[in-house]
Amino acid sequence: MQSLTILGATGSIGVSTLDVVARHPDRYRIFALTGQTRIDVLAEQCAQFQPEVAVVVDADAAERLQKLIRDRGLKTNVVYGEQALCDVASADACDTVMAAIVGAAGLGPSLAAAKAGKKLLLANKEALVISGQLFMDAVAASGSTLLPIDSEHNAIFQCLPIGYQRVPPQHGIRKILLTASGGPFLDRELSSFDSITPEQAVAHPNWSMGRKISVDSATMMNKGLEVIEAHWLFGASASQIEVVIHPQSVIHSMVAYADGSVLAQLGNPDMRTPIAHALAYPERIDSGVDAIDLARIAQLDFREPDRVRFPCLQLAFDVLHAGGSAPAVLNAANEVAVQAFLDKQIGFTRISSLIAETLSRVPAASVDTLESLLAQDSKARDQARALLQ
Ligand code: NAD
Ligand code: MG
Repeated sequence: MQSLTILGATGSIGVSTLDVVARHPDRYRIFALTGQTRIDVLAEQCAQFQPEVAVVVDADAAERLQKLIRDRGLKTNVVYGEQALCDVASADACDTVMAAIVGAAGLGPSLAAAKAGKKLLLANKEALVISGQLFMDAVAASGSTLLPIDSEHNAIFQCLPIGYQRVPPQHGIRKILLTASGGPFLDRELSSFDSITPEQAVAHPNWSMGRKISVDSATMMNKGLEVIEAHWLFGASASQIEVVIHPQSVIHSMVAYADGSVLAQLGNPDMRTPIAHALAYPERIDSGVDAIDLARIAQLDFREPDRVRFPCLQLAFDVLHAGGSAPAVLNAANEVAVQAFLDKQIGFTRISSLIAETLSRVPAASVDTLESLLAQDSKARDQARALLQ
């Protein structure tokens, strides 16, 4: 029986994870659930899965959850704060952690799980973008098993030779082919980008996801973050990672080998597939996702990404080359810009220019401690917020 902590249980990935868990009560039990908002949903999840601990972010939310827990006659212990998130991610009583908090807020608890040697199911790509080297060092030092949940990275993991999920030349690997749907604005008239609304941006054609990652998909910053994520997860250089637009989101990514073979992982666009893969790895379990119907899909299209239409993708390649704190600065500026866009403070095209300006004002520094990275992160947020005025 695996005992699980789900960080970000009330979000899109968290809910999908609990859906898979509910199908296998003989394999998994929940140790802890966490959530920032949707306290009522968290209470319902506690009633269904009976975790030992539930974590929220502040005292106010804890009081609200405590009342709902008491009304339901549950025994779940309610705690709050960043340290409590790290505690449930590293507790002896849990074997496996699903890291599904969105943004830099997930870094501390995700890293705590890595340091504690947990089986770590990583959805929180921002954690790797910010602290790639430190994160991978922590995984190596503790012997943690790191399994990617991002559908592309999970696909790449599945297409790499078992036990050799890295990309050094001796494995005969030529390239990682990272597929991208291109989001809702792949074919929209470029001159109309200024009138894009948050509602249009979060309406992804294939995937149902949280608001932040949905905007990231619309700007293609999501693919940029994923290039950096692939770099750290698989030890691939920027030139070994190629982004391919594939609007149907049926092929979730591919690995090209020296002999000309290309291996791909296919499936319906449903995050329960990578979640079930990682939960059961190396076994396979039912995820609730149907097999794909190739005859109905009929056609798979591919094209090159347009870096003029999607400047965020180029920015991500630039910071990967720059190294040091540059990816952390990009991520911080992006988080500020996306929130400002969702709050209707700035237009869609201002997202990329705000990030570019922040990058030019906060030069890349070499960073070897978490403290120095977090200092750069907060410098970048201050700078990006100043640019909003
Ligand atoms: P979401 O917004 O639906 O959920 C985020 C979760 O994190 C919620 O439970 C929320 O309460 C919690 N949270 C938010 N801010 C917090 C904070 N400051 N402190 C503590 N908890 C906080 O997001 P999502 O779509 O589920 O994405 C989660 C992560 O998974 C992101 O990093 C995203 O990039 C990644 N991811 C998501 C998908 C997807 O299909 N949704 C696919 C690939 C990767
Ligand atoms: Mg993805």
